[in-house]
Amino acid sequence: MQSKNEVVLIINLTDGSVEKKPYPMENTMTYGRLLALELLRQYGESRANRLDEGNAIALVPGLFTGNPAPSAGRMLLVTQKDGNAGAQICNITGNLPEALGRNGIAAVVICGRYGKENGIIRISGQEVQLETLPGATGKDTGRIVRALRAVYGKNCAAVGIGPAGERKLSAAAVFSTYAEGYPEYYVPRTCVGDVFGAKGLRAVVVEEESQARTHTLRNTENPECFEILATELANRIRRNEICGNALPSYGAAILQSGLNDRTVFDQFSDASVPEIQRMTEFDNIHHGCTPLCVIGCLNRHARRQRKIFTNPLAIETGALIRKYFGIDDDELTFRIVKQSEDLGISSAEYIENFRLYSKCIGETVTEESLIGGLDEIEKDSPEGRILGSGEAGLRMLYPDRMTKDAMEARREPSEREKSLREQIVALDSLGFCIFTAFAIIDNSESWKLLAKMTEARLGGDWTKQKLMEQSRKSLQMEADFSRVQAEAKAGTEIPGFASVLEQYREMKK
Ligand code: SF4
Repeated sequence: MQSKNEVVLIINLTDGSVEKKPYPMENTMTYGRLLALELLRQYGESRANRLDEGNAIALVPGLFTGNPAPSAGRMLLVTQKDGNAGAQICNITGNLPEALGRNGIAAVVICGRYGKENGIIRISGQEVQLETLPGATGKDTGRIVRALRAVYGKNCAAVGIGPAGERKLSAAAVFSTYAEGYPEYYVPRTCVGDVFGAKGLRAVVVEEESQARTHTLRNTENPECFEILATELANRIRRNEICGNALPSYGAAILQSGLNDRTVFDQFSDASVPEIQRMTEFDNIHHGCTPLCVIGCLNRHARRQRKIFTNPLAIETGALIRKYFGIDDDELTFRIVKQSEDLGISSAEYIENFRLYSKCIGETVTEESLIGGLDEIEKDSPEGRILGSGEAGLRMLYPDRMTKDAMEARREPSEREKSLREQIVALDSLGFCIFTAFAIIDNSESWKLLAKMTEARLGGDWTKQKLMEQSRKSLQMEADFSRVQAEAKAGTEIPGFASVLEQYREMKK
């Protein structure tokens, strides 16, 4: 149901207080990434370390998330990096971002530390309760998700942590649930699980009466106009050959193979639903992270009639294993994805960490050692704790052996890269999945449409230039957050996806 006023919920886990602040929406520039950073600045202690009680977490659904905008079901989760090194920004999908938007929640800010184990923030409408999830300690992520559904209903939406987060490992990530069906959840690449663990927080849960298959309109200045424009945008996205054809036919695997070589399409096959059903107990096979994704690339990842991977991260994990270690083994990839997710670690992030670790200790990577590393994390052995400490931990342990990688990661971006970064950040703040970029980036008609949708949502006058100005403000604030050694790095990070977009530009020439 549409809520009259949007609110920002400020939850203090230490004293259990909840403040509900009105969110002045009209013609505001403070939304998306900028809102998340502003809230972190206001409610996090500026000198707090990552795992300190004074650090804060901000969850902000995209400006269009919870509205019927196509493929715009994402939210930003922002907290402090370690060592006063700035803000860590994660972009997350699943069913929680839309649930927050539908309930008129512009943001959730989590401060302090819960006094008990396995704390749960339970949100119903705009009301909040602090509870615990008994028996959750040590349980793998899948069991936690099922326990949350048993307690809060099968339609609930959640982000939370598995055992790695509970142990505050730097490599721990949050999980994010999909609506009931297959897959049940995913573990995104960026890691914030240790901060949840340090706060004694197991999960943030939004209770929903029914599974949202259709969308009610979130607070919107001109809802009729927004819906018409959203339909036009959906058609635009569907008409794009990557969004409307390659991704829904072959999944994100197609992007890994290079867009210039059209023959790669022959290597892929669309995964049929009965084929996936044989692998799972679920009838409801998701092809989209949310019902309103008009691209739908989940459970499509069949390569040369082989195994079907659930989501882009799983296929990315397989691609990284091939690229770094020359191992092409779908069974191994499946096992690594499953075991990492059970632990509450992103499988792609684990592979990156394992590559650095093996370089540091000078060992050759094998299939056995890749699985063995996860076993060590599971056992909580000293080697497992090193692997679970992520890149930051490895950098501290082996500073001399990590220098080359660090230098490779830093360089001045070109004007073209800056433009791509601004456009990608603008899409982030509106809540769009990055795959919509093929139909939107560098396309003046698409940006005109997005500006009109922003007018319909917030009121006021919007243009592409104003959307980019908002994006630059976010990037500036992100840079301001960085201090000490991270100062130079903050302004220069280029989203990895930018290179895929450049390939696409080449292909279109
Ligand atoms: S395009 Fe794929 S990754 Fe993006 S929202 Fe849709 S299903 Fe999810």
